[in-house]
Amino acid sequence: MAKKQFAVIGMGRFGSSVAGALTNLGFEVLAIDRDEQKIQDIADQVTHAVSADTTDEDALRAIGVRNFDVVVVAIGADIQASILTTLILKDLGVPRLIVKAQNELHGKVLGKIGADKVIYPERDMGLRVAHHLISPNILDYIELSDAYSIVEMKAPSQAIGRNLKQLDVRAKYKCNVLAIKSGEHMNISPYAEDIIREQDILVIVGKNEDLALLEIEFA
Ligand code: ADP
Repeated sequence: MAKKQFAVIGMGRFGSSVAGALTNLGFEVLAIDRDEQKIQDIADQVTHAVSADTTDEDALRAIGVRNFDVVVVAIGADIQASILTTLILKDLGVPRLIVKAQNELHGKVLGKIGADKVIYPERDMGLRVAHHLISPNILDYIELSDAYSIVEMKAPSQAIGRNLKQLDVRAKYKCNVLAIKSGEHMNISPYAEDIIREQDILVIVGKNEDLALLEIEFA
């Protein structure tokens, strides 16, 4: 199978990090920015790098951006440029369009004009940091929807040596333990009798308000 090809537009902190990470993962990555200096800085970390203003439809056509499997628009502060770029890419028929939003309203507009996925990196990172601050046992926090999330937490001391039935997270907090990570091993269908050991990591899904209680009382 051919390697997936990505184009990333906007080499700010977020865009350059995405472009570099995709390249390191072995994908072909084209980096685009209107700032020539940014292109020079990223050139040796990606497959190709070109300088262009992506609000110029002809420039995007010339680059052949519609031939890429996925295009990531990581233009941040310049909301107008982000929206225009998204609109043009959608018109050009890019197969999958992922766009970074600055705020909810920006995200709403992006969704309406056809972005396949809108991402909020600052907001999501803020959320993760906040949850980690509530309890250092919380390692990660992923929103599934407005109402449901997944938390990844270090097994709290009260859980060590006990099994899922004894902990009864389902009845106490209305949350579900999806998986137990023990080092490299991942138990993805834990049984009621499975015992939690020190250093284990629990992956738990639930409603946000139920998880909030669990994070305070259980984590
Ligand atoms: P971050 O917060 O991730 O650092 P920035 O908003 O600072 O994001 O960076 C966005 C990048 O997008 C900048 O490097 C900027 O030059 C680039 N950019 C902005 N508008 C355009 C455009 N019309 N065409 C191409 N690149 C653009």
